[in-house]
Amino acid sequence: MQEKGTISIHTENIFPIIKKFLYSDNEIFLRELVSNAVDATQKIRRLSALGQFAGTLGETQVEVAFDEKKKTITISDQGIGMTAEEVKKYINQIAFSGATEFLEKYEKAKDAGEIIGKFGLGFYSAFMVASRVEIETLSYQENAEPVHWECDGSTSFEIKKGKRKTRGTDVILHVNEDSKEFLDRYRLQEILDKYCKFLPVPIKFGTRKEQVPDGEDQEGKPKFKEVEKDHIINNTAPAWTRKPADLKDEDYLAFYRELYPMSPDPLFWIHLNVDYPFNLTGILYFPQVKNELEFQRNKIKLFSRQVFITDEVKDIVPDFLMLLHGVIDSPDIPLNVSRSFLQADSSVRRINSYISKKVADKLGELFKSDRKSYEEKWDDISLFVKYGMVTDEKFYDRAKDFALLKNVKNEYHTLEEYKDRINPLQTDKDGTLVYLYATDPAIQDAYIQSAAKKGYDVLLLDSPVDNHFVSHLEQKLEKTALKRVDSDVADQLIPKGDKTETVLSEEQMNRVREVFGKAVQKPEMSVELASLSPEEPPVTVTIDEFTQRMKEMAKTGGMSFYGNLPDRYKVVVNGNHPLTLRILNESEEQQTLLARQALDLALLSRGMLTGAELTAFVNRSVYFIGGEPGGNPS
Ligand code: ADP
Repeated sequence: MQEKGTISIHTENIFPIIKKFLYSDNEIFLRELVSNAVDATQKIRRLSALGQFAGTLGETQVEVAFDEKKKTITISDQGIGMTAEEVKKYINQIAFSGATEFLEKYEKAKDAGEIIGKFGLGFYSAFMVASRVEIETLSYQENAEPVHWECDGSTSFEIKKGKRKTRGTDVILHVNEDSKEFLDRYRLQEILDKYCKFLPVPIKFGTRKEQVPDGEDQEGKPKFKEVEKDHIINNTAPAWTRKPADLKDEDYLAFYRELYPMSPDPLFWIHLNVDYPFNLTGILYFPQVKNELEFQRNKIKLFSRQVFITDEVKDIVPDFLMLLHGVIDSPDIPLNVSRSFLQADSSVRRINSYISKKVADKLGELFKSDRKSYEEKWDDISLFVKYGMVTDEKFYDRAKDFALLKNVKNEYHTLEEYKDRINPLQTDKDGTLVYLYATDPAIQDAYIQSAAKKGYDVLLLDSPVDNHFVSHLEQKLEKTALKRVDSDVADQLIPKGDKTETVLSEEQMNRVREVFGKAVQKPEMSVELASLSPEEPPVTVTIDEFTQRMKEMAKTGGMSFYGNLPDRYKVVVNGNHPLTLRILNESEEQQTLLARQALDLALLSRGMLTGAELTAFVNRSVYFIGGEPGGNPS
């Protein structure tokens, strides 16, 4: 048997194109060839299990080897092998249909980068790194003849009687000049670790030295000797492929450590397992995160039948869950298509909403079964949950029962509980329920304390997503407003309609406005005189809720227009405070000084006093406590 022929293909020579567009990702040749070897191995195992293959199954592992001198990489299996007919059918024709399709897509695609690596080229990806490829194969079928196939990357091939004596296939790559990097143990190991680490058939790559017990020495101590053992690079039964019932917490944690050796243990996890209407397994872990900067996207790995595909799971995993860790394995996710297609793909959309639902179910379960430990985890998971609630309507509806609001006293309430807790004290004259919140308790402490004096509760909403969360809650909750605790003086945060009488006459009020107008020499600050209770501070600086929110929004992305909004502060002078009355009785010079001092104290309490103004304040304070001569204070 010897035959030469031409591979049937429409394009004269596809390889230059494959090489060009897959160059940056050419390491996937190994993934493709090892997956083929694994498939062939699983097929023979299945045939054997079904009683359709009577021979001995023997060792069914896949081996990857390389020879630096001969410049070859060989992928061997003991799978079903191929007859000459099958080689012609599967290798000469079928394999190329994938390549042809690739070409068509490539011609249509706007951006070549879109398809790089997304296209499984199968067997022919070998030519990205090899100038010549040989196949030695022997089919499992009775009386099969070994076959040798060879092709140099042009469209002509040669097929003849082969040398293989045992069932299975060797694919031998003669590595081309540009791809010598792959003739290296560490490089190959790296690629195998990336793509093949969880394949279901043992993958042998070289040997490793191991210490094994070797009797005892003269003193009776155990002896060891060094032996060379096959180095199997993969875990053939990773946790996600096993039944949840067979796994203990320890197994999930061990698998997590296998995936992310450097990360602290996760908080908890969700084992995904569906087979209808699509096939999907996986484990999603909620990572421990102490600070938002640690968040890393693209930590979830996408597999297709245990072959690693990518860690860019955008579109497949809902956006707000991209911050989770773990794996998703689905043969139903189309891998060979461009991004825009993926977004429109209905199975991808279903997978997306399934994952979102599963995560909500799990969180709901945790909340119900152990509220205390759920609360302990809340700080870590709140970012996901809130992000999910503002970006995904369905998730909001599911999460509204287990989302928690935390207050500055570290107490947690569900939305429903919180409403009851603050009602009726925090209901304003129009019946609107006002939620107060702090974004930075260190700076807003004075305001928090003033609110507390009135019996108001203050929420802690200090994460980057909270700004959006606040606006979202306002839209969702009926007759509810959220106000930052420093957006007004405590007396006016929740307007009740009852007026505090003022002790000042009309004339005195005008004078107070005048004095403070002079003391406040900043265009972004306007003075307002209010009749507050005498216990309120003499001067309070507040920032308008709307401006503040818009500016925060601008910071966390988008809407740069609002970022340019000027700051707008209100200097609220408490007309009923004893200091205000005292100021009226002082000399004009002293009035200005006292007004400045009161204003500076207000600025100081919100961390806004810096630089020359802070120095002036310190000097003035020294003067007030009698520490002359400091020159004339200003
Ligand atoms: P795909 O794997 O997507 O079908 P490939 O181009 O990788 O496409 O392979 C084409 C076909 O060649 C396979 O479907 C299989 O029938 C056959 N084949 C490839 N490698 C092997 C192998 N190691 N053992 C047996 N058959 C193989």
